[in-house]
Amino acid sequence: MTFSRRTFLRGSAQAIGAASLLGALPHATNAALAAGKERKPRVAARDIQVKDVAGLAVLSGAGCNVVALPGPDGALMIDGGLAENSAVLLKALAAATRTSRVDTLINTHWHPEQTGSNEAVGKAGGTLIAHEVSRLALTRAEQSPLFEGSYGPLPEKARPAKTTYNTGSLQFAGEPVEYRYLPAAHTNGDLFIHFPRRNVIVAGGPVAADHWPVIDYQNGGFMHGFLRSYEILSEVAHADTVIIPANGPTLTGADIAKQKDMYFELFRMFCVSFNKGYGPMDIVAERPLKAFEAQYGDPAQFLEYAYRSTQLATIPF
Ligand SMILES: [Zn+2]
Repeated sequence: MTFSRRTFLRGSAQAIGAASLLGALPHATNAALAAGKERKPRVAARDIQVKDVAGLAVLSGAGCNVVALPGPDGALMIDGGLAENSAVLLKALAAATRTSRVDTLINTHWHPEQTGSNEAVGKAGGTLIAHEVSRLALTRAEQSPLFEGSYGPLPEKARPAKTTYNTGSLQFAGEPVEYRYLPAAHTNGDLFIHFPRRNVIVAGGPVAADHWPVIDYQNGGFMHGFLRSYEILSEVAHADTVIIPANGPTLTGADIAKQKDMYFELFRMFCVSFNKGYGPMDIVAERPLKAFEAQYGDPAQFLEYAYRSTQLATIPF
């Protein structure tokens, strides 16, 4: 028998049927997904902490790790916390960098935890940089399984004016700062930022150190891109490179290499489970990351969304 699109589709329909028998619909509704699965940080802004990491100020407590570096015309800022925490965050950042303005703000992606200072910085004349997909997302009302309701559109001045599809760089206070796309990993507009002279990488959404990262499968994030992002970060980072994740304490390049192996091992398990007709909740029930739960907490949401992203990308509608 020759392989045709028709036989492929029939086979896929059977696969969907098998998955449904196990109670795991590949295309469940948002409402079903949202039930009990929200992770929307609500952080008291007065709790902003500042740490020095290789001469960079890392501010936490506004919704994500925010990185800042003083320059002659104001600070370089990476990510901006939630909008409700922006005023207090910017005050803390001004104190930490001894500068009264932000010259350049880079968004690692468009989620509310990263873009909450865009409006204040943009209106004050700062330059906003992001992936083009993130800029587009900020021109619309976006929804995500990671938060309730919708986010955006942001005002014109809060939208990045300088964008890239792949790579970019700037000289800031006499040192090179490079940024690069992590394709379809956490969203489909993720950037990471590299400070080669400091041996520091700001990894953005695909990496979290105090909980599991999450794949926003409704906004272009998917397991294959997530794995690719760990390959890219492992290629760029040395074992001793300091990795600043989206949330939580710093990691090293060696940690990223270990996590890459863990996620590839998980993906192999996904492939076997896929052929068995397992759905996302079957994967969660299997607890394949049991050995890491003490370190990173409950991986249920990560597993569900990672597997769901694999289904969405693999099973045709
Ligand atoms: Zn995010």
